[in-house]
Amino acid sequence: MTARRRIDLAVSDEPPTCPRCAGRGLALVRVPYGWTNAAGVPVRSRTGIVLCERCDADTPHAAPLITWFHVHGRVRDDTGAEFARVLRAWAEHAEVPPLDERALEDEIALWGRGAL
Ligand SMILES: [Zn+2]
Repeated sequence: MTARRRIDLAVSDEPPTCPRCAGRGLALVRVPYGWTNAAGVPVRSRTGIVLCERCDADTPHAAPLITWFHVHGRVRDDTGAEFARVLRAWAEHAEVPPLDERALEDEIALWGRGAL
């Protein structure tokens, strides 16, 4: 049995902006994310993935979730179980964008200068 990733759906009235096409995304999902830093220390974080019906049309496991949004529009109590199933299927296979280490270093440098 494999450990399941904890997935959070960030629900808001404003649709998320897709980082790939800058269009309207369907949902923003936060998934756990880990990597090993230069010192060999595992780092655990979370990252957001936007589901986009244009960019994710050919993404494995995305089609049932996109269809779900077309049919139901938004998450309600009576559709929660089916939604959780298709959301999990997609999120477990979703590709996490590679970490932008340069942006992270810039941010840390700004932190060090007290600019943030
Ligand atoms: Zn897109």
